[in-house]
Amino acid sequence: MKIEGVGVREISEKFGTPVYVYSMSALRQSIKEIKQLSPVTRYAMKACSNKRVLKEMLDHGIKIDAVSVYEVRRAIKAGFKPEDICFTSDIFSNANDVHFCLEDKIFTNCGTLGMLEEYGCAFEKTGRGSVKVSIRINPGEGAGHSKKTNTGGPYSKHGIWYENLSEARNIAKRHGLIISGVHTHIGSGGDMDHLKRIAGKLVDFAKQFSDLEVVNFGGGLPYQYDPNLPQDDISRYKSILNERVGILEQYFGRKIVCEIEPGRRFVAGCGYLVGEVRALNHTFEEDGKRLDYVLGNIGFCHLIRPMAYGSFHPIWIVGDDLGPDQNIIIAGPVCESGDVLTQKNEEPVPRRLPMPKAGDLIVVGGAGAYGFAMSSNYNTQPLIPEVVVEEGKCKLTRRRQTLDDMLREEADMF
Ligand SMILES: *Cc1c(COP(=O)(O)O)cnc(C)c1O
Repeated sequence: MKIEGVGVREISEKFGTPVYVYSMSALRQSIKEIKQLSPVTRYAMKACSNKRVLKEMLDHGIKIDAVSVYEVRRAIKAGFKPEDICFTSDIFSNANDVHFCLEDKIFTNCGTLGMLEEYGCAFEKTGRGSVKVSIRINPGEGAGHSKKTNTGGPYSKHGIWYENLSEARNIAKRHGLIISGVHTHIGSGGDMDHLKRIAGKLVDFAKQFSDLEVVNFGGGLPYQYDPNLPQDDISRYKSILNERVGILEQYFGRKIVCEIEPGRRFVAGCGYLVGEVRALNHTFEEDGKRLDYVLGNIGFCHLIRPMAYGSFHPIWIVGDDLGPDQNIIIAGPVCESGDVLTQKNEEPVPRRLPMPKAGDLIVVGGAGAYGFAMSSNYNTQPLIPEVVVEEGKCKLTRRRQTLDDMLREEADMF
């Protein structure tokens, strides 16, 4: 198996396993596809904040949606200008965050009335005349691949409830804020029909803001993880957005900027997690049925999506003299039974794959989004390297953590 012309075995020998691998040509293809959908495209960088990936976005004129002030600062370090960054959150984590956004003139998208109020109070103290802000609206409904990634409706903490918009206008007026942007993001991994309907709702809400300049329809572009199914078609989003923004331009009689901010769709398909089979194991169910486990060195400390959401990822086995497909469960090194990569509805389920032997490789696809970004040191497992493949060459963009790296912040008490 090859990634952009480079053998996975070669990569594993050079950098060791586990390792994340990103294909730059796949990334460029998705950038091209997404960029033509909207006049302004932001990258929701929480999906994968690798420096090389950010650089690629920068080079293609993609702007940034950041969800923490540390993300904002990371984007600035990667070369983005403060004016190209939108900070979306429901809170400021502390008072310094508010001052940072005001001083560095970061366009701030407030997802609660409380956050808007805090921003307004801090702004008044600067003595400046006025500042433009955006508000995130909860449109009363949402969508997502999992309950946990649905970010609209009554069970989502995100956004100012759509019936409370007059209160948002009052807060803005009291503190000299100009609400020049409205935004909604209803969830991750939903479908096009939902996106279309919510875009319509956002346009109706937007009409209530007389200073409107920007309307941001959020992210949530679908991505089909199963390579045996056709990839979700997102091309029709362009005409949906055009039509919706056209309504607003006609209503206000001026140009309105249209923005979207996908994360997953940009990067999911360009990333692979490569691990190594370390041991085989098996059990017997009560009725005598045998379950075969393949234990590799990749687990939920490296890719949490199967464990957190029961998500499907394509998996390939790379090895010599592989036999026919059989039912196998692929599990990892973490000391928890939930550490299984092949899951459905939060249950381990066997997958049809050739039975590997120790030393063979396990390659997990669709791992570019919310992969490395959500990895952890659980079980004192080091964060793993990120390798970029570009025009037949591999480059290490992040080295493997060492034990010293992991212990650095801990006080030396004994
Ligand atoms: C996570 C997030 C996104 C990106 O969602 P995807 O489903 O990855 O496209 C966009 N906007 C905001 C505010 C987010 O929090």
